[in-house]
Amino acid sequence: MVLEIKNISKNFGGISALTNVTFSVGEGEIFGLIGPNGAGKTTMFNMITNLFSPTSGEITFADETVTGVKPHLITEKGICRTFQNIRLFPQMTSLENVMVGGHCRIKSGVFSSVIRTKAQRNEEGRLRETAKELLELVGLSDEIKTAAENLAYGQQRRLEIARALASNPKLLLLDEPAAGMNETETASLFDLIKKIQARGITILIIEHDMPLVMKLCDRIMVLNFGKKLAEGTPLEIQNNQAVIEAYLGSE
Ligand code: ATP
Repeated sequence: MVLEIKNISKNFGGISALTNVTFSVGEGEIFGLIGPNGAGKTTMFNMITNLFSPTSGEITFADETVTGVKPHLITEKGICRTFQNIRLFPQMTSLENVMVGGHCRIKSGVFSSVIRTKAQRNEEGRLRETAKELLELVGLSDEIKTAAENLAYGQQRRLEIARALASNPKLLLLDEPAAGMNETETASLFDLIKKIQARGITILIIEHDMPLVMKLCDRIMVLNFGKKLAEGTPLEIQNNQAVIEAYLGSE
């Protein structure tokens, strides 16, 4: 298992956002995290990336405990995420946005020094090439010089994914990537996520678009009021009476 979540709980004051949640994700899997609004899905992402520390429990990534590891070090270890609300640098070009993502994994500070050494220039060249390749992967080759704020909504979502991939993750966390997308954009998102999986990257996805989730995921966990309600294959989840009552019935 590449990611193991053991008995994670998170309290915010009097609110129990997560209570004793345990699950694991196998290498190369697409694992879906679903459940009603406020069920604790984004909080789980915040636990894995240590944006907030868990109240109790342990998280292991690639056989190493990552509980309490600072977020930028989590990225270096190979976990990267996108956010529910798009967080691009609006006035920077698509290429620059992706290059910044690559920079997260480089300690020598390619962008930070005024006088650049040859090694830094070479590194910047490599970042640029990788960024171009990733923009091609997400279907944005023609928008390399376009400022992020001038891209269509679906394009901005794909740019976020390219930026996350630039840090060369082993595990990619996608928080509602299809939110606000039309049918055509969602179909191309499906193809993109499958292509990312084919590169050997493990994917954990929060999503409310049930047809997409059921088609895309190898396994799914359902959260309800911060607790694990069910875990299984898409077919098992669709036929689970408790899940139908708590969530799917209302979709
Ligand atoms: P949605 O599908 O609406 O995005 P979610 O399943 O991602 O919901 P979370 O955002 O994880 O749910 O929220 C779980 C609970 O924790 C909610 O009651 C929320 O109000 C609370 N919560 C989350 N983050 C914080 C925070 N930083 N401070 C206080 N309460 C929080």
